[in-house]
Amino acid sequence: MNEKKRQIVRRGNRVEWDSMSTRKILRRREFGDPILRAEARELSRQNILSKQTKQLIADMRYTLAKKKYGVGLAAPQVGQSIALAIIEIKSTKTRPRLPKHKWASLALINPKIVRFYGQRQQLYEGCISFAEAFAKVPRYKKIRVRYFDEKAKTHEKNFDGLLAHVIQHEIDHLNGVLFVDRVKDKASFITQSEYIKRMAKAKKE
Ligand SMILES: [Zn+2]
Repeated sequence: MNEKKRQIVRRGNRVEWDSMSTRKILRRREFGDPILRAEARELSRQNILSKQTKQLIADMRYTLAKKKYGVGLAAPQVGQSIALAIIEIKSTKTRPRLPKHKWASLALINPKIVRFYGQRQQLYEGCISFAEAFAKVPRYKKIRVRYFDEKAKTHEKNFDGLLAHVIQHEIDHLNGVLFVDRVKDKASFITQSEYIKRMAKAKKE
């Protein structure tokens, strides 16, 4: 599906409208597709700055924005076996009161976890490539990640909480690892409608 749309373009801290750009919803790959089990290829600096990568990042952000419960998307999930993932964490129906300082918008390119801190905690996880199931997955509460951003700038930063959890899920995708591989508590597997019910209940409590 191709949609011509006004698009927000970030330039530094300024946000501008760009009426000429096009964005499309990318077809998602689902569990069972071999691309989700492959090791993704790293991008060179030149690749990162290419028009194709810029367009792919814009399309991935657009695709993710259209998925109500998605907080991250890795390139293999849209059929590109490259080491690129998008994170977009903000308040949603299931997370209505997520404080603004916990919102995040990131493009992680060639990301590597260089350090894990402390213990792991279990949080419910789902995946855009397997929309029907959720389960508790143990992940480190705090990690240190080295990565390139979309301008090919290198970063090495600490992340914690939900963001650290999501980053670990997305980096797994780049290594052909899926969240179901990491579930320890098999009895925690639930359907999407059960998950939504629980989140609604947790909100009231
Ligand atoms: Zn996933």
